[in-house]
This record gives sequence, structure tokens and C-alpha cells, in this order.
Amino acid sequence: MPEGLELATFRKQMLAWFRQFQRDLPWRRTKDPYRIWLSEIMLQQTRVAAAIPYYEKFLQRFPDVHTLAAAPQDEVLRLWSGLGYYSRARNLQKAAQQIVAKRGGEFPTRLEDALLLPGIGNYTAAAILSIAFGGKQAVLDGNVARVLARLGAIRGELRESKNWQTLQKNADRLLDPESPGDWNQAMMELGATLCTPRSPRCLLCPVAQFCEGRKLGIAESLPEKRKERATVEVALAAAVFTDRKGCTLLLPPPKNIMEKAAADHVPSLVSRMWHFPTLPVNSDPAVSLAAFLRKIMPEVPNREWRLVPAKNVRHAVTYRAITVSPFLLTVENLPRVRGAKQVPLGDLSSLPVSSLTRKVSRAALAAAASVPGGR
Ligand code: SF4
Repeated sequence: MPEGLELATFRKQMLAWFRQFQRDLPWRRTKDPYRIWLSEIMLQQTRVAAAIPYYEKFLQRFPDVHTLAAAPQDEVLRLWSGLGYYSRARNLQKAAQQIVAKRGGEFPTRLEDALLLPGIGNYTAAAILSIAFGGKQAVLDGNVARVLARLGAIRGELRESKNWQTLQKNADRLLDPESPGDWNQAMMELGATLCTPRSPRCLLCPVAQFCEGRKLGIAESLPEKRKERATVEVALAAAVFTDRKGCTLLLPPPKNIMEKAAADHVPSLVSRMWHFPTLPVNSDPAVSLAAFLRKIMPEVPNREWRLVPAKNVRHAVTYRAITVSPFLLTVENLPRVRGAKQVPLGDLSSLPVSSLTRKVSRAALAAAASVPGGR
């Protein structure tokens, strides 16, 4: 790691490179902590190109922390719909409400206060405070950790607490105190554009002469692989009702702890948003689903529906590999289920739904098109 005069050169080269070559991103044109915060939350699990349209649409509807705090949660989730990891949106709104209620709408400028907000950890707090207010906090996430590991030829699993502490110390030491916001963004930009997980483009790197990993010829093999958590296969069956108007039935997310506990056996990305009646299955999905529907619709007469299988849907969430078997149930009138809503099967956008639910609806629509007399 560079020290003394070398450190000054290192910082100068990094910042000069960033200021010349940085990508033009919407959140880089502002110092508004609300906008920077929103971008950091969206980017936690989402690629830049995918986040940009969501970011812009979200800000059109919620241009500031006050409008976000006052909005119905359903609407916030609807605008997040498709980005996944919906706890990010819930926490964002909770934090906005706290900022409005306790701080008159002003984002905290002290690290310890920012860390008290839901959904804001060390990385996000450091990013917002340094970019919006010039706070001297160095960011450290997976991208920055990879750059630091290569620069310092640090071996072993980076998330191990001893290694992570070393990385944080290195990040703090390298941070340019004159321009902490640009510095942090430069480190993130280097990790995102040149010092990428595979095939780092060292020939274009502004700090290649300081990189120990490169000197040793091991840059590409760093960080060393961590042991993967074994993939868990999850099988679900979903009921997609459709009536003669092409409407379908979606169940609401659970409202309280009891309902959440009951829904726990279905992966949360299905049950925490509006969803088709869904259950985990071990054996024949059609038989299990029919029994499940009879159970959740006790008041509905004549429950001998014909279940037409649609093409299975595959979806991966962290270590879970999910296979959903959707079944189409064509009915005259949709059954009445307490709390459920009826929406067009071809357009679920009026409710917050997960991308898995959208995949299921597409599979059901394709099946409906191929069923004689189907819709
Ligand atoms: Fe990454 Fe290569 Fe630059 Fe080292 S020289 S920091 S490995 S891009």
C-alpha cells in the first residue's frame, strides 16, 4: 500500500482518472443527500443500467423525502416492483418517515445518527455522507474490497472479520481527506469499470504501478473464492385464475406477525408482495394445489376447478433455486377471497408484485393462449 509521497501520487492519479473518465450517471449530477441515498439503496443489489429507469421514475413520483414519507407503502413498493429485495424499499420509506418526524426532513450529517436509520449500514452511510456533505468516511463494499485486495495482494476470504478490518483500515488510510466524496466514487468506479471480478484491465488502470497483486501476477485470482453455500432447491405450485374478462386473483402480502409466520414456508419474495395463491410442494403439485385452494377458499362453492399446467418457471434468489409449477384455472367468475384483489392477468402493474410473480403470469398467459377456448 502506498505511503508518504507515493500516497499523494496515488491519490492524485486516481482522482484525475475519475474526473476525466467517470460515467455520467444521474445521481452524480446532484449533492442532494436524498437522491444519493436513493441511488445507493437501489444499487445495493442492482446493476447501474437496470437501476437508472427505476431511479428516475421513483424521483418523479417522490421528488423529496417528504413525499416519500407520506406515500402509501403499496405505492412505494409498486414503483420498486421488478427491482427485487423489497425490504430495501420498506426500509427506505421507514427511514424517510423518521427523518421527517425527528429531523424536519434533513438527512443526518453525523455517521452515528445515519447508522440509526433503517436500511443504512456502514457502506451506505459512508457513501451518502462523503458525497453529499464531504464527510471523511471511506466506503467498503465487495467492489471496493476487491480493488483493495488486489492493490495490497491480500489473500483469504475478504469477508472474514480480520481481513475485513484490514481492508477498512486500508480504505481509511487511502481516502483523500480533501475530496472524500470523489475519492469514494473513484474507488467504486475503478471496481466497476476496470478492476472487475474477471479480467481486470490493468493496462488502463490509473494506479497500476502501486498494485501488489499485479506485480505478483495474482491480481485476477484475487479475491480468493469463498466457500459457496449449497444451493437449496425449492418447488412451488401457483394457482393462476382467469375469468372471462382476463382478470386474475392476487393475494395480499401478510399484514401481521401471525400471517408472516404462516407464510414463512413460502419464500419471502413470493409471499411478501401481492402474489398468486402459492404453496411449497413435494409431490404431485396439482393435487397439493387443489387441496390448498379448497383450504383457503372454504366459502367458495363448486371448487372442482380444472387445473391446466403451464410451463414451469425457474427463478434464483441468493442460494435458493426456485421452480414454480403454475396452473391455469379458467373460471366464469373469480372466487371471492378475503383481502384478495382482481387485476388483469396481462397487466399486474397496479399492485406491487415480485419479478417471480410476473414470470408466473407470463407463463400462464402463454398457456392460456394455447388452450382451446383459453384466453
Ligand atoms: Fe485492479 Fe489491475 Fe488496477 Fe491492480 S492494476 S488495481 S488489479 S485494475
